[in-house]
Amino acid sequence: MMNFKNLNLINPIIRAVTEAGYSKPTEIQYTAIPHILVGKDIIGCARTGAGKTAAFAMPILQLLKKYTPEHKEIRTLILTPTRESAMQIEENLAIYSKYLPLSQLSVFGGVSMGGQLAALRKRVDILVATPDRLLDLVNQRPIDLSKIEILVLDEADTMLDMGFINDVKKIVKLISHKRQTLFFSATLPGSIRRFAEMILNNPVEVTLNPVSSTAQTGGQSAYFAEKKDTTGSLIDILQERNAARSLVFSRSKHAVNKFVQQSGITGI
Ligand code: AMP
Repeated sequence: MMNFKNLNLINPIIRAVTEAGYSKPTEIQYTAIPHILVGKDIIGCARTGAGKTAAFAMPILQLLKKYTPEHKEIRTLILTPTRESAMQIEENLAIYSKYLPLSQLSVFGGVSMGGQLAALRKRVDILVATPDRLLDLVNQRPIDLSKIEILVLDEADTMLDMGFINDVKKIVKLISHKRQTLFFSATLPGSIRRFAEMILNNPVEVTLNPVSSTAQTGGQSAYFAEKKDTTGSLIDILQERNAARSLVFSRSKHAVNKFVQQSGITGI
């Protein structure tokens, strides 16, 4: 079975993700991490929810840990389209780097620049940023992006849809060519591939089979059941479908516990 150790991840990272409740890598993680760890550029087709953030965050932390003399400048830049995704990525990095001496910061619009500029005066190993805000900050004060070793473009298709292409191009020009670039997008139409080609160097393509996407493989059905019967009916439906994994939402914790008990399936 594939586990985090087989992926050659170091103990401080394995310990942190295990504590976060991850027991084994997701598909995008075991597919992408080995390439990232050997320094390859990646073009990855994966949507949010596949464990994509950890797929790039864990190996980045490991690479930064490996070559860690006294650095003062930003070493990794993660560009992402929205404030929410920037905050989410920073939070995940904080969890995964709990046992490593690395620091991260996220910057995005909608809040004043003063606090962000002050935070950037301290040591930041990994900067997570929306492209527009990063350029605003760079215009306020010179921020050294020339020492960046790893650049991540997260949700590249959304960044393009939101009109960030020129901002991204300007930022890429400030970064050395001698970098590793990881490019993720939920879709890879021609326009995105052309954009990727400008930024990536001989990338490995990592595409997930979209098996888990309901939009592509699932249908929708409604079943009517007596209230006292819903648990039994649901168990029947799941057994009939022979589903390896299912996600069941319910109104209360109590109902979920009851369902797990009655069905005899493994639930969390
Ligand atoms: P993402 O695709 O990065 O938005 O991740 C979706 C969710 O999966 C997040 O809540 C992660 O914390 C979680 N996650 C990522 N990797 C794993 C893993 N190997 N095992 C369990 N959960 C994970």
